[in-house]
Amino acid sequence: MNTQTIQKPKAMYPELKDKVAVVTGAGSGIGRATALALAAQGVKVGLLDLKDSRTEQVKSEIEALNAEALTADVDVSDPDRVREAIESVAKKWGKVDIVFANAGINGVLAPIETMNPDEWDHTLTTNLKGTFLTVKYAIPYMKEQGGSIIVTSSINGNRVFSNFGMSAYSTSKAGQMAFAKMAALELARYKIRVNVICPGSIQTHISESTHPTPDLQKIKIPVKYPEGNQPLEHAPGQPEQVGDLVTFLASNASSHITGTELFIDGAESLI
Ligand code: NAD
Repeated sequence: MNTQTIQKPKAMYPELKDKVAVVTGAGSGIGRATALALAAQGVKVGLLDLKDSRTEQVKSEIEALNAEALTADVDVSDPDRVREAIESVAKKWGKVDIVFANAGINGVLAPIETMNPDEWDHTLTTNLKGTFLTVKYAIPYMKEQGGSIIVTSSINGNRVFSNFGMSAYSTSKAGQMAFAKMAALELARYKIRVNVICPGSIQTHISESTHPTPDLQKIKIPVKYPEGNQPLEHAPGQPEQVGDLVTFLASNASSHITGTELFIDGAESLI
């Protein structure tokens, strides 16, 4: 995303000015684009990610917009580090209004028969337990004034089950949907909304956390779409398009929307 785009968001939500957000996986891809989109609305953003120079780079980009950010070196599967990071955001700015539980990995892609239980745990712990921890430790700072929580699931886990070897990933993404719906009902009493976004293929660095094993070939069923599998734009989505959706879900424009999954995939999951 270039500065030009950031300075001129497609939609302005004045109520977001001076809100406080926690974004996990903020150093790259969808998390980065969303952190920048929120900052462009005047939101103060806590950038949580594994120790990575990319997160510092996002902070610099936000500061170049005259917006505020802080970084926290966090593994989202580690309860103490998640709790401390969210506490540091709340201490700096006095509250948390928006949570984007987004950090995730594709992990090891393997047949179920040969998938190592530790690899299964790593994917589930990062994607699903990480979401639980992020939401859990934000609640005390959101209860007073309400807010919006957005969870990044995927079309894998609810509509698409043909990405062979992704049994752990898809299970984690299905679990995130169930968790978010439970949370939406439980947290409605505090005026905290909880929604789930389900992206299709988005152009990010997710391939860096994708580790296919050679024996995947043994379980693949060939699926071919001669006209391509992305009907709307004939290309993967851009992280900035996802950032726009998350900003809408953080804003008052979505004030009656909670417990809902929103697909952002250009109809990819419908074929
Ligand atoms: P990405 O790899 O570009 O960004 C993911 C970020 O999460 C990275 O900065 C990474 O360091 C961080 N992260 C990974 N493990 C972490 C951990 N244990 N603790 C803290 N941070 C961690 O990928 P992305 O595509 O932007 O992925 C963001 C989310 O979107 C993921 O949950 C992913 O499952 C989901 N998603 C992506 C796509 C896609 O096609 N890119 C499609 C559907 C869903």
